[in-house]
Amino acid sequence: ENRNLFAALRAAFPSNLDAVAVETDDGLAYSWRDLDRASAMLANLLLSLKLPDGARVAVQVEKSVEAMLLYLATLRAGYVFLPLNTAYQKAEIEYFVGNAEPSVVVCTPRNFGWVSKIAFQAGTRHVFTLGEDRTGSLLERAVHHSDQHETARKADDDLAAILYTSGTTGRSKGAMLTHGNLLSNAEVLKDYWGWEKGDVLVHALPIFHVHGLFVALHGALLNGSKMLWFGRFDPKAVIAKLPEATVFMGVPTLYTRMLAESALDRNAARNMRLFISGSAPLLVETFNEWKERTGHTILERYGMSETIMLTSNPYLPSDGERRGGTVGFPLPGVGVRVTGDDGTELPRGEIGAIQVRGPNVFAGYWRMPEKTKEEFTADGWFKTGDVGKIDERGYVVIVGRSKDLIISGGYNVYPAEIEGYLNEADGVAESAVVGVPHPDFGEVGVAVVIPKPGARIDGERLIAALKAQLANFKIPKRCFVVDELPRNTMGKVQKNLLREQHKALFV
Ligand code: ATP
Ligand code: MG
Repeated sequence: ENRNLFAALRAAFPSNLDAVAVETDDGLAYSWRDLDRASAMLANLLLSLKLPDGARVAVQVEKSVEAMLLYLATLRAGYVFLPLNTAYQKAEIEYFVGNAEPSVVVCTPRNFGWVSKIAFQAGTRHVFTLGEDRTGSLLERAVHHSDQHETARKADDDLAAILYTSGTTGRSKGAMLTHGNLLSNAEVLKDYWGWEKGDVLVHALPIFHVHGLFVALHGALLNGSKMLWFGRFDPKAVIAKLPEATVFMGVPTLYTRMLAESALDRNAARNMRLFISGSAPLLVETFNEWKERTGHTILERYGMSETIMLTSNPYLPSDGERRGGTVGFPLPGVGVRVTGDDGTELPRGEIGAIQVRGPNVFAGYWRMPEKTKEEFTADGWFKTGDVGKIDERGYVVIVGRSKDLIISGGYNVYPAEIEGYLNEADGVAESAVVGVPHPDFGEVGVAVVIPKPGARIDGERLIAALKAQLANFKIPKRCFVVDELPRNTMGKVQKNLLREQHKALFV
């Protein structure tokens, strides 16, 4: 049996290949036949380049259906897809291209000058361009190739993609994902989230990250479902299209931006079956507000570049309720355990390091054998770097990342706990708590809060109010009120930047 992920996706295309597979926000429609033919032509173009086995195809382009087709073509031809965040500039591309040594680089036409220079210096032989409006040399070349292509044979362990992590905690690492990783996870999610005939997905996420590229795309394709495709997330435009859709996936910021629109109501969401959130913690407040406004309970799930999806709140009411502030249960086939400092498994309810295993867990970090070894336990569990617990009902709760943990006077302080209290205070929209060096306590917490529109917050009073609720060692020693938190392109709060900014407060 061919375990090439593309073979499974292709097999799920509906029998009527003339049906619409993708409808874009600028009014284009692609049939399933279009996806098949165009990905074949691109795959044949790649084959014509006579690339070595395991060749990387690095792609930094604006989101487009053609960029998605290039992903499918790379799988189909049996090479390794390597998407890069469109926000990356010279220094970053130099690092990624130098590190990955791709055989092919595809970039935005306006970046050709500097990207090709970096690529050629790194030994890349082929640099193509692809614009968001179907321009560029890649498609010009592909049209000369046949629209018939036999999918390359692949085994479960063969590499399908290298995904660089978001770089929230430090330099991005290339997670090597196999066909088996991607396919097994996609199959589990198809079942767990109840994908059904007639489902239509709103695809409004970037496609250089696990969420948009794997979870959303594989979900729709493996179900033969139409996608409503957004090149960029525009809350008004997405809300206007919701009545034609049944499934939406977003990072928390997409939900808060839609909540800021008065058009978001029960009527707009009347045909929806499922709203899914992940990639960063969803505030309980957003979860509750969404339920009030639309009547839908967001399903929050947890995953990462190295593992794709790990846990999910239940889809079926018979499996339990969707609980805000939790990321649900381990997915079928995925093992999740919480361990203490000595590596032994902790009982339910206790906070520790989250470790995982399963067919979805990656093959290691690209060209970082030492780092890979460090991040796996002797008995084969992957150390996620996240800290959390499994509650008495079996729901996984994430309290932060181990790098963000604050140790104050010998006590562990979990930022997410303090942030939870701050977020509930009057006038607070959002908060972040980070640890900074302190001469007496080693480290102390510093809070950074964002007021709700129009609200005024007094940092001193906020701290005083916390003192009535929490043990003294948990109380942030300072509180700053600011307009926004530093976020990376995935909308994740960059606590390392906050730590850096406030590191000299007490020393
Ligand atoms: P880096 O590893 O480079 O520091 P990163 O960990 O942010 O960056 P990703 O692989 O994109 O890179 O993100 C995975 C992380 O996102 C998880 O380890 C977890 O901390 C966080 N995450 C994902 N989903 C959720 C969720 N539902 N709730 C809380 N955190 C989440
Ligand atoms: Mg990470």
